[in-house]
Amino acid sequence: MDSGRKFKVVKGDSLERVRTGAPENLPERFAHRALGMQASEIRSLFAVASRPEIVSLAGGMPNLSALPMQMMASVTEKLISENGAEALQYGNGQGHPRLREQICDVMALEGIRAHPDDVVVTTGSQQALDLISRIFIDPGDVVLVEAPSYVGALGTFKQYEASVVHINMDQDGLIPQALANAIKSIKASGRKIKFLYLIPNYQNPAGVLLPADRRTEILDIARREGIFIVEDNPYGLLGFEKPSPNAMRASDSENVIYLGTFSKTIAPGLRVGWALVPQSLKDKMVIASESSILCPSNFTQLVISNYLANQPWRDQITSFAKLYKERRDAALSALDKYFPKNATWTKPAGGFYIWITLPPEIDTNALMPKAIAAKVAYVPGTAFYADGFGSWSLRISYCYPTVERITEGIKSLAGVIKSEMEARQIN
Ligand code: PMP
Repeated sequence: MDSGRKFKVVKGDSLERVRTGAPENLPERFAHRALGMQASEIRSLFAVASRPEIVSLAGGMPNLSALPMQMMASVTEKLISENGAEALQYGNGQGHPRLREQICDVMALEGIRAHPDDVVVTTGSQQALDLISRIFIDPGDVVLVEAPSYVGALGTFKQYEASVVHINMDQDGLIPQALANAIKSIKASGRKIKFLYLIPNYQNPAGVLLPADRRTEILDIARREGIFIVEDNPYGLLGFEKPSPNAMRASDSENVIYLGTFSKTIAPGLRVGWALVPQSLKDKMVIASESSILCPSNFTQLVISNYLANQPWRDQITSFAKLYKERRDAALSALDKYFPKNATWTKPAGGFYIWITLPPEIDTNALMPKAIAAKVAYVPGTAFYADGFGSWSLRISYCYPTVERITEGIKSLAGVIKSEMEARQIN
């Protein structure tokens, strides 16, 4: 039997893996769906982007500098010393009952009245996306998404072999009429639409906010057409000027599958998110989750539960929002100051991201090595489309670097873009 890998002893007696290549017929051994599991072309550039000398405006890593680490340490220490036997044990497949109640309090901030029985705790909201895809998508089924949309969701839908259809957005998010038109033509072609996936608050990657009237219109269309809405809401509590409109789930408990997470309001390393599902879907979600993870981590759920019970978590979210607002302000003023006049960008009222559109002759994938050479990284727009569109746009995130680094990074990026424009004689 040849596993395709050999080991050799190297200096210091450590074992070094030597790659000897994959078996020739490996692709034939894979399941069909595994063929869609491909690393993105920009992954290698990301490895470079994480070098300290590069200003990374690429990843969307929450900024934990506002999280009081000593307090987290004492919550964790107390949990293990007082309740370690529960915290370190297997738990309930649907999630810890006490945390599910507290999650309902968190969702109440966005107008949702929910019952803890309808909450399914997941390992980050990313796992909820996977479960929903597993439950709904047969190969070739249509999933509707915003144009552009979250790269992690697109990857999941692709793995389940969905046919992803993008619906146009503008500065106010998804355009209801564009949705109605797309549904009509997809249905006329005889294809099945399984759900509409959208991020109404401070969208990833576009940073835009869907106003209340559009929410109502979109809910009406989806109900009329018999299509579930998957409302993904990681950033809703991170508004800068005023609270975001009520969640779509607040006015429809039958047709909206709502996803939440503590990744942006507490810490992503704890990997605790949730789905609030219509009653009719609860059992399927729990069974699907149990078959992939048995149960979410009792330990991290209880860290969060104790934190919510004993700490001023609403004030903590306010501190996070303040930190991101300062960075958003720095990013927008650097864009105004340094970017060429024929570039346009969104002006987020919350969250982490700005979406930049350049003249169509500029290919932001091809530009990436030049940006890295100028010590700045971003995500090319094509990452956020399932169909290769978006080559003249890009996403920057301002959440992680310091204000000074954001300004420096945007200045360098502007320089790279301006020289590309000069080289191509674009005015
Ligand atoms: N949805 C969106 C829109 C996101 O931006 C992210 C994280 N970047 C996730 C879901 C996944 O978050 P998590 O799994 O950490 O909850």
